[in-house]
Amino acid sequence: MPEQQWTAADTEQVRCCVCHEWGEVRYRLDPFAVVQCPTCGLVFVSPRLNPKALQRFYDQPSYFEDGGVYGGQAGGRNPAMLLQRAWTNGRLAAIGRVAPAPGRLLEIGSAYGLFLAAAQRAGYQVNGVELSAAGAQESQRRGFEVFNGQLVDAPATDRNDVVCFWDTLEHVPDPLEFLVEVRRRLVDHGTFALSVPYISSLPAKVLGKRWWTLKPEQHIWHFTPATLQTTAARAGLVVTDVITSPLNPANLTRLDSLVAIGRALPS
Ligand SMILES: [Zn+2]
Repeated sequence: MPEQQWTAADTEQVRCCVCHEWGEVRYRLDPFAVVQCPTCGLVFVSPRLNPKALQRFYDQPSYFEDGGVYGGQAGGRNPAMLLQRAWTNGRLAAIGRVAPAPGRLLEIGSAYGLFLAAAQRAGYQVNGVELSAAGAQESQRRGFEVFNGQLVDAPATDRNDVVCFWDTLEHVPDPLEFLVEVRRRLVDHGTFALSVPYISSLPAKVLGKRWWTLKPEQHIWHFTPATLQTTAARAGLVVTDVITSPLNPANLTRLDSLVAIGRALPS
């Protein structure tokens, strides 16, 4: 990722998405700051990139730096590809324990469709939402039903038995709104599954403002198992299982990320 020089003019101040309170500063990363909600403890970036600057950031050709991982070259044997496969299999196994196929599965942020392909092989009827035009087109070319755009703009098709979103929640402008939208796309008692970095992880605690996952341009919300639980609850979702072990295939080698599984409360 090339260094880009951001100034205060590229930023906006935001409040906690759950309590609508201003945060208290934990780290200054000029022109950004990592702050914490005094009421619910949720950590977020404010000031953060404003929507215009954020668009510029995601439009950089280098943003999909790990394009090789998602490019889907068959038989790829690079370590990133092997890890991707371990995560996919581990996550499908975790989902399958609570929501076995067949069923309708939506992936938000489906990139080039690798997870959709694996879920389809596992017996699910799959559909996706993807912001990147390149990713959406490649998935459509491979025959997947993928909407190119934001989740909120995706057509309301049949509700899903499973909605999953990997490494997405930390990027969205308003995680509570996003989770409400996830709930709307799920049947009652439907299953959701996600992965997200967490700020109560050992690397985050030990490294503080040097934590490699802080990335304040793009990681604008930082959860703990507890704040994830409270934010999800406000959206009508209940977290039932949290995997933090880097030895679990669903989260293999990841010291600072978790995988969470949960259910939609009946509406
Ligand atoms: Zn709050």
